[in-house]
Amino acid sequence: MAYQYEKSCKCGHTFLMNITKREAAFELRWQEIVNKKCPKCGNADFTDITIPTVELDKALLLEWGNHREYFLMPQDEELLLAEEKYFDMIVDILDSGQILQHKKYILLEALCVLLYDLVQEEYDTPFTDALIRELNKRRADINTSYIMDYIKEVVFPVLERNQSLQG
Ligand SMILES: [Zn+2]
Repeated sequence: MAYQYEKSCKCGHTFLMNITKREAAFELRWQEIVNKKCPKCGNADFTDITIPTVELDKALLLEWGNHREYFLMPQDEELLLAEEKYFDMIVDILDSGQILQHKKYILLEALCVLLYDLVQEEYDTPFTDALIRELNKRRADINTSYIMDYIKEVVFPVLERNQSLQG
């Protein structure tokens, strides 16, 4: 799959810049596309830059986990990671423990956000149980200062009520 930034110049011309998946995931060439001059009018000003969506894989998540200066953009990282499809990968990486401590806090924060989202919708699914089980198992590892109050207020009582669900 190809990854490209699409930049729309003020003159109305639109042009592309090819990037790799990891460059897209970590926005490593963001400044370059911002500064890139329009091939038609030579101006760098733009009206819009379209960012490619990246499906994270384990290699990318591990690279992110070991580089303090890498961020998963353009959303807030914990929101981007708070998806059921990333659950197994996150648990796997938390288990192997080969990432920086504060990145572990972000992964745990993402799992809390995910549980928060599920509680807002349908609660009683096998997946929710699995998620609660993983979070209860790791309660001591959760850094509460990373987690927004409105998330805490919903998620922690749910974990409390389901203490029987543990690894
Ligand atoms: Zn232009």
